[in-house]
Amino acid sequence: MSGKTALIAFAHQERTSFNYAMKEAAQAALEKKDWTVLVSDLYEMKFNAVLSRDDITGEPKEPNHFKYGAETLLAWKEGHLAKDIEEEQKKVEKADLVIFQFPLHWFGFPTIMKGWLERVFSSGFAYGAKSMFSEGPFKHKKVLLSFTTGGLESMTTPRGITGDINVILWPLQNGILHFCGFNVLAPQIAYTVAHVTQEVRVGILKSWEKRLETIWEEEPIRFLPIQDFDTSGGYVLKKEVEEARSADKYGPTVGQHLGKPLPPDSQVKPEGSGL
Ligand SMILES: Cc1cc2nc3c(=O)[nH]c(=O)nc-3n(C[C@H](O)[C@H](O)[C@H](O)COP(=O)(O)OP(=O)(O)OC[C@H]3O[C@@H](n4cnc5c(N)ncnc54)[C@H](O)[C@@H]3O)c2cc1C
Repeated sequence: MSGKTALIAFAHQERTSFNYAMKEAAQAALEKKDWTVLVSDLYEMKFNAVLSRDDITGEPKEPNHFKYGAETLLAWKEGHLAKDIEEEQKKVEKADLVIFQFPLHWFGFPTIMKGWLERVFSSGFAYGAKSMFSEGPFKHKKVLLSFTTGGLESMTTPRGITGDINVILWPLQNGILHFCGFNVLAPQIAYTVAHVTQEVRVGILKSWEKRLETIWEEEPIRFLPIQDFDTSGGYVLKKEVEEARSADKYGPTVGQHLGKPLPPDSQVKPEGSGL
């Protein structure tokens, strides 16, 4: 019995799409394990992905130069963010686990989902000067990117034409999700779904459902804790942390590589896992 809550943020226009099938499979598998599942079907909701002054209600503090971050921080503190943002924030607050289900667009989120992130993960609610990375507001939550691609898996290897999937994922998983404190679980990547056999697609759905049965027990991907950085000057790795890793073959992370080879598969598997 889970008793936990998941939020699936979903971005695809078509109910006949493979992404829709992945979303349905996740919802059914989690509900079978007694999760409460909330869904934000972004195209269905016609979610507004464009940041504007209308994201706060009432008068802005500085109407002559609307500073989005400062105005939405104040609105969040005083409870006058736009209603659609507040509703989505309530869902995120309730969620122990957030799953993003989407087709990869230009090596990132589809615009509607990026807009959801930009508007819903607002200053104060999702991050702050003193609450970010491993100390971010969502540090007790887990998150997972589940996406489909047009490209082949081989294209996203260190020798592939589009480059290492670990590099592609770093800005999404570190720059957005870990930045807000989330424990980031290994991504669920369904490669080239339009060009594999029906049998392969059915297999992808089955293994996704199977994984979700025990998703809460999974260990997250490793990032360096904020305590490893000098937060009083420049936010760079502390000398002693760097020295302690000087003999390591690989850099600590994709971003903090210290000029060494990147740690293999560090954005697609938790360290030391059999995944
Ligand atoms: C703007 C844009 C940018 C893009 N950028 C990138 C990029 O940067 N990198 C990249 O790799 N790709 C990129 N793509 C390609 C995109 O990622 C793929 O087209 C997408 O991931 C395919 O997923 P889908 O759900 O739309 O597949 P669909 O085409 O909807 O589905 C694939 C197949 O699955 C079948 N299916 C549906 N339901 C089921 C089911 N229940 N069981 C079995 N089969 C089922 C469908 O009938 C279909 O045959 C981009 C596409 C666009 C439009």
